[in-house]
Amino acid sequence: MNFKNFPMVPRVVFGRGSFDQLEEIITSKRTSTSSPFIFLVDDVFKGSPLEKRIPLYHNDKVIFINSDVEPKTSQVDALRDSIKEEFDALPSGVIGIGGGTLMDLAKAVAIMLNNPGSSEDYQGWDLLKNPALYHVGIPTISGTGAEVSRTTVLTGPEKKLGINSDHTPFDQVVLDPDLCTGVPLNQWFYTGMDCYIHCIESLTGTYLNAFSQSYGEKSLDLCNEVFFNGSLSEDESRDKLMMASWHGGMSIAYSQVGVAHAMSYGLSYLLGTRHGVGNCIVFDHLEEFYPEGVKQFKKMVDKYEVEIPKGLCANLTDDDFDTMISVSMGMVPLWENALGKDWKQVITPQKLRGMYEKM
Ligand code: NAD
Ligand code: ZN
Repeated sequence: MNFKNFPMVPRVVFGRGSFDQLEEIITSKRTSTSSPFIFLVDDVFKGSPLEKRIPLYHNDKVIFINSDVEPKTSQVDALRDSIKEEFDALPSGVIGIGGGTLMDLAKAVAIMLNNPGSSEDYQGWDLLKNPALYHVGIPTISGTGAEVSRTTVLTGPEKKLGINSDHTPFDQVVLDPDLCTGVPLNQWFYTGMDCYIHCIESLTGTYLNAFSQSYGEKSLDLCNEVFFNGSLSEDESRDKLMMASWHGGMSIAYSQVGVAHAMSYGLSYLLGTRHGVGNCIVFDHLEEFYPEGVKQFKKMVDKYEVEIPKGLCANLTDDDFDTMISVSMGMVPLWENALGKDWKQVITPQKLRGMYEKM
Protein backbone atom coordinates (compact mmCIF):
# COMPACT_ATOMS: atom_id res chain seq x y z
CA MET A 1 0.00 0.00 0.00
CA ASN A 2 1.37 3.39 -0.98
CA PHE A 3 -0.15 6.25 1.00
CA LYS A 4 -0.49 9.71 -0.50
CA ASN A 5 1.99 12.27 0.82
CA PHE A 6 -0.35 15.19 0.35
CA PRO A 7 1.04 18.76 0.26
CA MET A 8 -1.00 21.33 2.17
CA VAL A 9 -1.14 25.11 1.83
CA PRO A 10 1.63 26.18 4.22
CA ARG A 11 0.23 29.61 5.12
CA VAL A 12 -3.28 30.93 5.47
CA VAL A 13 -4.81 34.09 6.86
CA PHE A 14 -8.50 34.09 7.81
CA GLY A 15 -10.64 37.05 8.76
CA ARG A 16 -12.97 39.78 7.53
CA GLY A 17 -10.79 42.56 6.14
CA SER A 18 -7.66 40.39 6.06
CA PHE A 19 -7.12 41.32 2.40
CA ASP A 20 -5.44 44.48 3.66
CA GLN A 21 -2.61 42.37 5.10
CA LEU A 22 -1.63 41.27 1.60
CA GLU A 23 0.97 44.03 1.21
CA GLU A 24 2.77 42.98 4.37
CA ILE A 25 2.59 39.31 3.37
CA ILE A 26 4.05 39.62 -0.10
CA THR A 27 6.65 42.34 0.50
CA SER A 28 9.23 39.88 1.80
CA LYS A 29 8.61 37.63 -1.21
CA ARG A 30 9.66 40.23 -3.78
CA THR A 31 12.77 38.89 -5.48
CA SER A 32 13.89 42.29 -6.89
CA THR A 33 12.41 45.66 -7.78
CA SER A 34 12.35 44.67 -11.43
CA SER A 35 10.46 41.41 -10.70
CA PRO A 36 6.78 42.31 -10.57
CA PHE A 37 3.92 40.70 -8.77
CA ILE A 38 1.29 39.74 -11.33
CA PHE A 39 -2.28 40.05 -10.05
CA LEU A 40 -4.80 38.00 -12.02
CA VAL A 41 -8.17 39.43 -11.03
CA ASP A 42 -11.73 38.49 -12.02
CA ASP A 43 -13.00 41.32 -14.20
CA VAL A 44 -16.14 41.58 -12.06
CA PHE A 45 -13.87 43.69 -9.80
CA LYS A 46 -12.83 46.15 -12.51
CA GLY A 47 -13.52 49.64 -11.19
CA SER A 48 -14.62 48.28 -7.79
CA PRO A 49 -13.31 49.45 -4.41
CA LEU A 50 -11.34 46.18 -4.21
CA GLU A 51 -9.29 47.16 -7.26
CA LYS A 52 -8.06 50.25 -5.42
CA ARG A 53 -6.98 48.14 -2.44
CA ILE A 54 -4.60 45.97 -4.49
CA PRO A 55 -1.09 46.85 -3.20
CA LEU A 56 0.89 47.82 -6.33
CA TYR A 57 4.56 48.84 -6.28
CA HIS A 58 7.40 49.13 -8.81
CA ASN A 59 6.27 47.45 -12.04
CA ASP A 60 3.53 45.23 -10.52
CA LYS A 61 0.73 44.51 -12.94
CA VAL A 62 -2.98 43.78 -12.71
CA ILE A 63 -4.49 41.63 -15.46
CA PHE A 64 -8.29 41.42 -15.46
CA ILE A 65 -9.73 38.11 -16.58
CA ASN A 66 -13.25 37.31 -17.68
CA SER A 67 -14.43 34.12 -16.01
CA ASP A 68 -17.40 33.38 -18.27
CA VAL A 69 -15.48 30.45 -19.69
CA GLU A 70 -13.42 28.02 -17.66
CA PRO A 71 -9.60 28.17 -17.97
CA LYS A 72 -7.99 26.81 -21.12
CA THR A 73 -4.45 25.60 -21.71
CA SER A 74 -4.15 28.07 -24.63
CA GLN A 75 -5.20 30.93 -22.34
CA VAL A 76 -2.59 29.96 -19.74
CA ASP A 77 0.14 29.74 -22.37
CA ALA A 78 -0.84 33.12 -23.85
CA LEU A 79 -0.79 34.78 -20.43
CA ARG A 80 2.62 33.29 -19.67
CA ASP A 81 3.98 34.43 -23.05
CA SER A 82 2.68 37.98 -22.69
CA ILE A 83 4.12 38.32 -19.18
CA LYS A 84 7.51 37.00 -20.32
CA GLU A 85 7.49 39.38 -23.26
CA GLU A 86 6.62 42.43 -21.18
CA PHE A 87 9.12 41.94 -18.35
CA ASP A 88 12.85 41.23 -18.53
CA ALA A 89 12.91 39.59 -15.10
CA LEU A 90 10.86 36.62 -13.96
CA PRO A 91 7.96 37.86 -11.78
CA SER A 92 8.21 37.65 -7.98
CA GLY A 93 4.92 35.85 -7.86
CA VAL A 94 1.37 35.43 -9.15
CA ILE A 95 -1.69 36.36 -7.11
CA GLY A 96 -5.15 35.15 -8.11
CA ILE A 97 -8.23 37.07 -6.93
CA GLY A 98 -11.63 35.58 -7.82
CA GLY A 99 -13.45 32.25 -7.85
CA GLY A 100 -12.30 28.77 -8.84
CA THR A 101 -11.55 30.03 -12.34
CA LEU A 102 -9.06 32.61 -11.10
CA MET A 103 -7.62 30.23 -8.49
CA ASP A 104 -6.87 27.74 -11.25
CA LEU A 105 -5.48 30.34 -13.64
CA ALA A 106 -3.14 31.77 -10.99
CA LYS A 107 -1.81 28.31 -10.15
CA ALA A 108 -1.33 27.40 -13.80
CA VAL A 109 0.35 30.67 -14.80
CA ALA A 110 2.72 30.43 -11.79
CA ILE A 111 3.59 26.90 -12.92
CA MET A 112 4.08 27.81 -16.56
CA LEU A 113 6.27 30.85 -15.84
CA ASN A 114 8.83 28.36 -14.56
CA ASN A 115 8.27 25.38 -16.88
CA PRO A 116 8.98 25.05 -20.62
CA GLY A 117 6.50 24.17 -23.35
CA SER A 118 2.72 24.24 -23.19
CA SER A 119 0.49 23.72 -20.17
CA GLU A 120 -1.20 20.87 -22.04
CA ASP A 121 2.06 18.91 -21.69
CA TYR A 122 1.53 18.86 -17.93
CA GLN A 123 -2.13 17.84 -17.71
CA GLY A 124 -2.01 14.68 -15.68
CA TRP A 125 -0.17 13.61 -12.56
CA ASP A 126 3.29 14.78 -11.42
CA LEU A 127 4.67 15.79 -14.81
CA LEU A 128 6.26 19.15 -13.91
CA LYS A 129 9.95 19.68 -14.47
CA ASN A 130 10.34 22.67 -12.12
CA PRO A 131 8.51 24.18 -9.13
CA ALA A 132 6.01 26.99 -9.69
CA LEU A 133 6.71 30.64 -8.91
CA TYR A 134 5.45 31.88 -5.54
CA HIS A 135 1.65 32.03 -5.82
CA VAL A 136 -1.16 33.31 -3.64
CA GLY A 137 -4.87 32.48 -3.80
CA ILE A 138 -7.52 34.94 -2.66
CA PRO A 139 -11.02 33.50 -3.16
CA THR A 140 -14.00 35.83 -3.63
CA ILE A 141 -16.68 33.14 -3.82
CA SER A 142 -16.80 29.93 -1.76
CA GLY A 143 -17.33 26.31 -2.64
CA THR A 144 -14.91 24.77 -5.11
CA GLY A 145 -12.09 24.06 -2.65
CA ALA A 146 -9.67 25.17 -5.40
CA GLU A 147 -7.95 27.28 -2.73
CA VAL A 148 -6.62 24.12 -1.02
CA SER A 149 -6.38 21.63 -3.84
CA ARG A 150 -3.39 20.02 -5.52
CA THR A 151 -4.77 20.60 -8.99
CA THR A 152 -5.59 23.27 -11.53
CA VAL A 153 -8.31 22.14 -13.91
CA LEU A 154 -7.68 23.16 -17.52
CA THR A 155 -9.47 22.47 -20.77
CA GLY A 156 -7.00 21.57 -23.49
CA PRO A 157 -7.45 20.65 -27.14
CA GLU A 158 -7.76 16.99 -26.22
CA LYS A 159 -8.94 16.80 -22.67
CA LYS A 160 -10.21 18.61 -19.63
CA LEU A 161 -7.78 17.54 -16.94
CA GLY A 162 -5.89 19.06 -14.06
CA ILE A 163 -2.21 19.73 -13.62
CA ASN A 164 -1.89 17.65 -10.46
CA SER A 165 1.40 18.11 -8.67
CA ASP A 166 3.09 18.95 -5.39
CA HIS A 167 3.95 22.37 -6.89
CA THR A 168 0.33 23.23 -7.70
CA PRO A 169 -1.02 24.20 -4.23
CA PHE A 170 -0.78 27.83 -3.24
CA ASP A 171 2.13 29.03 -1.08
CA GLN A 172 -0.26 31.38 0.66
CA VAL A 173 -4.03 31.76 0.85
CA VAL A 174 -5.89 34.81 2.13
CA LEU A 175 -9.42 33.98 3.27
CA ASP A 176 -11.32 37.24 3.64
CA PRO A 177 -15.06 36.44 3.73
CA ASP A 178 -15.89 40.12 3.09
CA LEU A 179 -14.66 39.67 -0.48
CA CYS A 180 -17.66 37.39 -1.12
CA THR A 181 -20.13 40.20 -0.49
CA GLY A 182 -22.17 40.81 -3.62
CA VAL A 183 -22.03 37.35 -5.19
CA PRO A 184 -25.35 36.92 -7.08
CA LEU A 185 -27.75 34.44 -5.41
CA ASN A 186 -27.74 31.84 -8.22
CA GLN A 187 -23.95 31.80 -8.41
CA TRP A 188 -23.65 31.66 -4.60
CA PHE A 189 -25.90 28.62 -4.67
CA TYR A 190 -24.23 26.80 -7.59
CA THR A 191 -20.69 27.25 -6.24
CA GLY A 192 -21.84 26.55 -2.66
CA MET A 193 -23.51 23.34 -3.84
CA ASP A 194 -20.21 22.26 -5.39
CA CYS A 195 -18.97 22.10 -1.81
CA TYR A 196 -22.09 20.30 -0.59
CA ILE A 197 -21.70 17.74 -3.40
CA HIS A 198 -17.99 17.26 -2.55
CA CYS A 199 -19.10 16.31 0.96
CA ILE A 200 -21.81 13.88 -0.13
CA GLU A 201 -19.57 12.22 -2.72
CA SER A 202 -16.66 11.93 -0.33
CA LEU A 203 -18.65 10.76 2.70
CA THR A 204 -20.59 8.07 0.80
CA GLY A 205 -17.63 6.88 -1.28
CA THR A 206 -15.71 3.63 -1.02
CA TYR A 207 -12.43 5.58 -0.69
CA LEU A 208 -13.57 7.14 2.58
CA ASN A 209 -11.10 7.11 5.47
CA ALA A 210 -10.89 8.89 8.81
CA PHE A 211 -8.85 11.76 7.35
CA SER A 212 -11.43 12.58 4.67
CA GLN A 213 -14.35 11.87 6.94
CA SER A 214 -13.18 14.32 9.59
CA TYR A 215 -12.99 17.17 7.06
CA GLY A 216 -16.10 16.06 5.13
CA GLU A 217 -18.33 15.89 8.19
CA LYS A 218 -17.23 19.33 9.37
CA SER A 219 -17.81 20.75 5.92
CA LEU A 220 -21.27 19.19 5.68
CA ASP A 221 -22.20 20.58 9.13
CA LEU A 222 -21.14 24.03 7.96
CA CYS A 223 -23.10 23.66 4.69
CA ASN A 224 -26.18 22.71 6.69
CA GLU A 225 -25.77 25.77 8.90
CA VAL A 226 -25.38 28.04 5.89
CA PHE A 227 -28.07 26.61 3.61
CA PHE A 228 -30.66 25.36 6.13
CA ASN A 229 -30.26 27.18 9.38
CA GLY A 230 -32.03 30.49 8.83
CA SER A 231 -30.48 32.07 11.92
CA LEU A 232 -27.05 33.06 10.59
CA SER A 233 -26.25 36.70 9.84
CA GLU A 234 -24.88 37.37 6.36
CA ASP A 235 -21.41 37.84 7.82
CA GLU A 236 -21.56 34.52 9.68
CA SER A 237 -22.89 32.79 6.60
CA ARG A 238 -19.96 34.04 4.48
CA ASP A 239 -17.45 33.06 7.20
CA LYS A 240 -18.85 29.56 7.48
CA LEU A 241 -19.21 28.88 3.76
CA MET A 242 -15.59 29.90 3.27
CA MET A 243 -14.50 27.33 5.87
CA ALA A 244 -16.91 24.72 4.45
CA SER A 245 -15.20 25.12 1.08
CA TRP A 246 -11.78 24.68 2.70
CA HIS A 247 -12.79 21.55 4.59
CA GLY A 248 -14.67 20.11 1.61
CA GLY A 249 -11.53 20.54 -0.49
CA MET A 250 -9.43 18.85 2.19
CA SER A 251 -11.93 15.99 2.35
CA ILE A 252 -11.77 15.14 -1.35
CA ALA A 253 -8.00 15.63 -1.38
CA TYR A 254 -7.61 12.38 0.48
CA SER A 255 -10.57 10.54 -1.07
CA GLN A 256 -12.34 11.37 -4.33
CA VAL A 257 -15.50 12.86 -5.80
CA GLY A 258 -18.18 10.70 -7.41
CA VAL A 259 -21.06 10.36 -9.87
CA ALA A 260 -22.08 14.02 -10.12
CA HIS A 261 -18.56 15.14 -10.97
CA ALA A 262 -17.96 12.25 -13.38
CA MET A 263 -21.10 13.16 -15.32
CA SER A 264 -20.73 16.93 -15.13
CA TYR A 265 -17.26 16.63 -16.66
CA GLY A 266 -19.02 15.19 -19.73
CA LEU A 267 -21.46 18.11 -19.89
CA SER A 268 -18.68 20.59 -19.41
CA TYR A 269 -16.49 19.06 -22.11
CA LEU A 270 -19.23 18.94 -24.74
CA LEU A 271 -21.38 21.95 -23.87
CA GLY A 272 -19.06 24.15 -21.83
CA THR A 273 -21.41 23.89 -18.84
CA ARG A 274 -19.76 25.58 -15.82
CA HIS A 275 -18.62 23.41 -12.93
CA GLY A 276 -21.05 24.57 -10.22
CA VAL A 277 -24.22 24.65 -12.25
CA GLY A 278 -23.22 21.46 -14.10
CA ASN A 279 -22.91 19.59 -10.82
CA CYS A 280 -26.34 20.88 -9.77
CA ILE A 281 -27.92 19.80 -13.09
CA VAL A 282 -26.55 16.29 -12.67
CA PHE A 283 -27.01 15.92 -8.91
CA ASP A 284 -30.72 16.75 -9.25
CA HIS A 285 -31.10 13.36 -11.04
CA LEU A 286 -28.98 11.17 -8.78
CA GLU A 287 -31.53 9.89 -6.22
CA GLU A 288 -30.51 6.35 -7.13
CA PHE A 289 -26.94 6.93 -5.94
CA TYR A 290 -27.31 9.57 -3.23
CA PRO A 291 -30.92 9.32 -1.94
CA GLU A 292 -30.53 11.42 1.22
CA GLY A 293 -28.18 13.97 -0.31
CA VAL A 294 -30.44 14.57 -3.31
CA LYS A 295 -33.56 14.89 -1.15
CA GLN A 296 -31.91 17.62 0.88
CA PHE A 297 -30.51 19.27 -2.25
CA LYS A 298 -34.02 19.56 -3.71
CA LYS A 299 -35.24 21.20 -0.49
CA MET A 300 -32.45 23.76 -0.77
CA VAL A 301 -33.30 24.46 -4.42
CA ASP A 302 -36.90 25.13 -3.34
CA LYS A 303 -35.89 27.23 -0.36
CA TYR A 304 -33.76 29.63 -2.41
CA GLU A 305 -35.99 29.38 -5.52
CA VAL A 306 -32.91 28.78 -7.63
CA GLU A 307 -33.37 27.67 -11.20
CA ILE A 308 -31.61 24.45 -12.18
CA PRO A 309 -31.39 24.48 -16.00
CA LYS A 310 -33.20 21.65 -17.77
CA GLY A 311 -33.33 20.25 -21.28
CA LEU A 312 -29.59 20.64 -21.98
CA CYS A 313 -29.40 17.30 -23.76
CA ALA A 314 -32.71 17.62 -25.64
CA ASN A 315 -31.23 18.21 -29.10
CA LEU A 316 -27.98 16.29 -28.95
CA THR A 317 -26.86 13.85 -31.64
CA ASP A 318 -25.73 10.27 -31.06
CA ASP A 319 -22.14 11.45 -31.52
CA ASP A 320 -22.64 14.11 -28.84
CA PHE A 321 -23.93 11.54 -26.39
CA ASP A 322 -21.02 9.25 -27.21
CA THR A 323 -18.53 12.05 -26.53
CA MET A 324 -20.06 12.84 -23.15
CA ILE A 325 -20.29 9.18 -22.21
CA SER A 326 -16.69 8.52 -23.12
CA VAL A 327 -15.41 11.58 -21.19
CA SER A 328 -17.50 10.58 -18.19
CA MET A 329 -16.57 6.90 -18.23
CA GLY A 330 -12.92 7.91 -18.46
CA MET A 331 -13.13 9.26 -14.90
CA VAL A 332 -12.33 5.83 -13.48
CA PRO A 333 -11.31 6.78 -9.91
CA LEU A 334 -14.51 8.81 -9.50
CA TRP A 335 -16.71 5.86 -10.47
CA GLU A 336 -14.65 3.49 -8.42
CA ASN A 337 -14.99 5.73 -5.40
CA ALA A 338 -18.75 6.02 -5.92
CA LEU A 339 -19.60 2.40 -6.72
CA GLY A 340 -16.59 0.21 -5.99
CA LYS A 341 -14.29 -1.80 -8.24
CA ASP A 342 -17.20 -3.41 -10.13
CA TRP A 343 -18.71 -0.07 -11.14
CA LYS A 344 -18.89 -1.11 -14.81
CA GLN A 345 -21.58 -3.60 -13.92
CA VAL A 346 -23.82 -0.68 -12.99
CA ILE A 347 -22.57 2.07 -15.27
CA THR A 348 -22.81 1.09 -18.92
CA PRO A 349 -22.90 3.47 -21.91
CA GLN A 350 -26.64 2.77 -22.25
CA LYS A 351 -27.25 3.55 -18.60
CA LEU A 352 -25.37 6.84 -18.86
CA ARG A 353 -27.19 7.78 -22.04
CA GLY A 354 -30.52 7.25 -20.29
CA MET A 355 -29.37 9.46 -17.42
CA TYR A 356 -28.03 12.23 -19.69
CA GLU A 357 -31.28 12.21 -21.69
CA LYS A 358 -33.13 13.33 -18.56
CA MET A 359 -30.89 16.40 -18.12
P1 NAD B 1 -16.01 31.19 -11.12
O1 NAD B 1 -14.65 31.53 -10.65
O2 NAD B 1 -16.13 30.64 -12.48
O3 NAD B 1 -16.93 32.47 -10.96
C1 NAD B 1 -18.32 32.38 -11.19
C2 NAD B 1 -18.93 33.75 -11.34
O4 NAD B 1 -18.94 34.42 -10.09
C3 NAD B 1 -18.18 34.63 -12.31
O5 NAD B 1 -19.12 35.29 -13.12
C4 NAD B 1 -17.45 35.62 -11.40
O6 NAD B 1 -17.24 36.85 -12.06
C5 NAD B 1 -18.44 35.75 -10.27
N1 NAD B 1 -17.86 36.18 -8.99
C6 NAD B 1 -16.82 35.66 -8.31
N2 NAD B 1 -16.64 36.35 -7.14
C7 NAD B 1 -17.57 37.31 -7.11
C8 NAD B 1 -17.92 38.33 -6.17
N3 NAD B 1 -17.28 38.47 -4.99
N4 NAD B 1 -18.96 39.16 -6.46
C9 NAD B 1 -19.66 39.02 -7.61
N5 NAD B 1 -19.40 38.05 -8.54
C10 NAD B 1 -18.36 37.22 -8.28
O7 NAD B 1 -16.78 30.19 -10.13
P2 NAD B 1 -16.40 28.98 -9.22
O8 NAD B 1 -17.63 28.18 -9.15
O9 NAD B 1 -15.77 29.46 -7.97
O10 NAD B 1 -15.27 28.23 -10.01
C11 NAD B 1 -15.50 27.32 -11.07
C12 NAD B 1 -14.16 26.91 -11.63
O11 NAD B 1 -13.41 26.26 -10.61
C13 NAD B 1 -14.21 25.94 -12.78
O12 NAD B 1 -13.32 26.37 -13.77
C14 NAD B 1 -13.76 24.62 -12.20
O13 NAD B 1 -13.12 23.78 -13.13
C15 NAD B 1 -12.82 25.08 -11.14
N6 NAD B 1 -12.64 24.13 -10.04
C16 NAD B 1 -11.38 23.87 -9.64
C17 NAD B 1 -11.13 23.01 -8.61
C18 NAD B 1 -9.74 22.73 -8.19
O14 NAD B 1 -9.53 21.98 -7.23
N7 NAD B 1 -8.74 23.27 -8.81
C19 NAD B 1 -12.20 22.40 -7.92
C20 NAD B 1 -13.49 22.70 -8.34
C21 NAD B 1 -13.70 23.59 -9.40
ZN1 ZN C 1 -16.41 20.21 -7.61
